[in-house]
Amino acid sequence: MISPCPHLARLPVYEPGRPIEEVARELGLDPARIVKLASNENPLGPSPKAVAAMRKAAARAHLYPDGNGFLLRRTIAAKHRLPMEQVVLANGSNEIIEFLGHAFLSPGDDIVVSRYAFAIYAIVAHLFRARVNEAPARAYGHNLEAMRAAITPRTRLVFVANPNNPTGTAVPPAALARFLRAMPAHALAVVDEAYQEFLDRPLDTPRLLAEKPNLVVMRTFSKAHGLAGLRIGYGLASPAVAAALQKVRQPFNANLVAQNAARAALGDAAHLRATIRAVAEGRALLHAAFRARKLEFVPSHANFILVRVGDGRKIFEALLRRGVIVRPMDGYRLPEWIRVTVGARAENRAFLKSLDAALADAA
Ligand SMILES: *Cc1c(COP(=O)(O)O)cnc(C)c1O
Repeated sequence: MISPCPHLARLPVYEPGRPIEEVARELGLDPARIVKLASNENPLGPSPKAVAAMRKAAARAHLYPDGNGFLLRRTIAAKHRLPMEQVVLANGSNEIIEFLGHAFLSPGDDIVVSRYAFAIYAIVAHLFRARVNEAPARAYGHNLEAMRAAITPRTRLVFVANPNNPTGTAVPPAALARFLRAMPAHALAVVDEAYQEFLDRPLDTPRLLAEKPNLVVMRTFSKAHGLAGLRIGYGLASPAVAAALQKVRQPFNANLVAQNAARAALGDAAHLRATIRAVAEGRALLHAAFRARKLEFVPSHANFILVRVGDGRKIFEALLRRGVIVRPMDGYRLPEWIRVTVGARAENRAFLKSLDAALADAA
């Protein structure tokens, strides 16, 4: 009997946020009453301008998209003041991580990540039979000195998520700039900026590309731009690295509707500002609520918060029965914690009410 490659048997599994419809079916709940705070989606939804662009593009869905992504790449390039050749589109920025594996990882190579790093980095390393060097964390965030020390002669990729998921921590801009400038030439620094829009003082990482060719910056439309369902993100890289990433992608990886919606989303600064404001307000409310309940939490720089609730899996399940979906964190070796996305006002209130009930039941 034909069997898959042996390394797949030991592949770590990614446990995504539970979909609303699935939870509703399983628990016999009304999907309209379920609150999903599990995947760091935008509480305001997509930009109305993006929705209009999607409707318009839908009528042309029988046509293949521009495989070169000209209009969207030109818009992104202008935003970052880079030539278009340095922009690579992806079916969600997660796909860039996979491209990096295809283009840079051979069996026996290694990648460097921080403890509590985003799970996909290690999964992609395993797919390409590379090893994972995990540097210890500092206060649940990246310890850049430890990450530097974890780089070996076989290190090809060094991942820094800023802010980091699932911890919500951020590295100070000056420290990140120093770390990137000191990156040895044989390794590629990959800065995952999925939540960059929520930072108060972001480092202008795309600008560093001019002096550091061994840098990749990843961005997505899934979070602050509210287009997670469309699967669209991008990478910024030196011309040589970008050319390698272009080689390994499928010709139409960024679909027609997504390309048009993403371009419209970039043109809706007001929606982005409203999103950032709503997230800052909801995050402050949840921080204060956790403080009032004497629950330990990691102060967040993103649109989700890691909070210590006792038995995380049990509280996750108790919340689920009450129609609130969050994320258990045992997969990240944080069994006492859950991660909750900052939602709209009513969602945050519903979450806190259910959390109180779940904690009372568990006591
Ligand atoms: C959500 C997220 C992404 C982006 O995922 P998409 O594939 O663009 O939806 C990337 N990195 C991290 C750390 C994330 O949390």
